[in-house]
Amino acid sequence: MSLPNDFWRSVLKRGFRSMAEEESLNDVKKQFQQYSTHNYKPLPVNLIKGDGVYVWDEEGNEYLDFIGTYSATAHGHLNPAVVKALKDQLDSVAVVSRAFYNAEVGLFCQALAEYCELDMVCPMNSGAEANETCIKLARKWGYTVKEVPDNQAEILVFQDNFHGRTTTIVGFSTEEAYKHNFGPFTPGFKVVPFGDIEAVKAAITPNTVAVLGEPIQAEGGIIIPPKGFLADLRRVCTENNVLLIWDEVQTGFCRTGKRFAWQYEDAKPDLLAVGKPLGGGLLPVSAAVGRKEIMEVFQPGDHGSTFGGNPLAAAVAITALAVMEEEHYAEQSTAMGNLMRSLLSNLPYSQIVDVRGKGLLIGFEVDETVDTVKLSANLTKNGILTKETRNRTFRLTPPLTIPEGIVREAVGRIDAAFAATI
Ligand SMILES: *Cc1c(COP(=O)(O)O)cnc(C)c1O
Repeated sequence: MSLPNDFWRSVLKRGFRSMAEEESLNDVKKQFQQYSTHNYKPLPVNLIKGDGVYVWDEEGNEYLDFIGTYSATAHGHLNPAVVKALKDQLDSVAVVSRAFYNAEVGLFCQALAEYCELDMVCPMNSGAEANETCIKLARKWGYTVKEVPDNQAEILVFQDNFHGRTTTIVGFSTEEAYKHNFGPFTPGFKVVPFGDIEAVKAAITPNTVAVLGEPIQAEGGIIIPPKGFLADLRRVCTENNVLLIWDEVQTGFCRTGKRFAWQYEDAKPDLLAVGKPLGGGLLPVSAAVGRKEIMEVFQPGDHGSTFGGNPLAAAVAITALAVMEEEHYAEQSTAMGNLMRSLLSNLPYSQIVDVRGKGLLIGFEVDETVDTVKLSANLTKNGILTKETRNRTFRLTPPLTIPEGIVREAVGRIDAAFAATI
């Protein structure tokens, strides 16, 4: 394969979009095979258009997007208000560096801090970076405020955690495939069982600076901790002068039916990692958000990101937050999530062993008799796009804008896919 002679000119003259529209699924597969690293295993669909809950392939087949970009398209595809904010911002300026002040970024930091009920924001791009930022903040706080001896800081993390893919973060993953052949890893992390408050207590030492966890483990298979665990963890952290860091990159921004999942138990964090839907489904926007006493440890030069905190991202993110608030995403997520889980629970298949989740963060788990590859293919055939997370659990994380009629239709399609599989 090689590029046609007039490729570069065509990009500028005809426009890239019309060139992309001429590609068949087979062309795209070949390009991915030859020119893209194989770190994903995509479903065999070539998506070229999206609108709300719907996406379409190049042949015009329509699908319901039940991965929702792993929760990042909470607003649906191309939400008109967020798209308008992006276009409007493009009339003035898109990207400047943090070497200067910028009004959009100032407003963004204030709005996000207040939305999170915390004090200060460190803007980043990806979820992994937001977590890395929290880790650096917690360590520096540990040395400069808690007075932990040099290079002795410990952070507790949980079995089956998912916090991103940097070398530091995969180093404390318990998923062998995520870390095999990628070592040596950053020291200073200790893994404890998720949901086990006694194990947390036992693992804390005078050098423990933080506990980092997800209030519901999403990638881990939609794992909800025992009732009371979030509040217990908050209490234990406070008692031991240990920071509580919630990674709400996936659970945050109304996905579970509240602004943040920690609000189910009033387990307010000291540091919070947010991302995914903060970009309104258009751009990567993330942040570490936290209490002033901790955030203040960062001095000029301590941390940074070229694109973290740019005016275009700020305009998109603020508008994304405004839409969530004004259009009552939390209530919508609760109502549609309850409906979807109850409809799924009523499906007549003993092979579905569990339907769980909060709001529109839903997993349904199937037993060993179900061929999950076949089920995935049948879901696609029936116009439902989703994949397995871990532990034979299929993830359902549609846009939070999904109307009741489509929830009902989707469960009908899942029913049909199941009937065709077993
Ligand atoms: C997706 C995710 C991340 C990583 O976000 P990226 O933007 O892919 O780096 C971190 N934590 C949680 C809980 C996530 O779901």
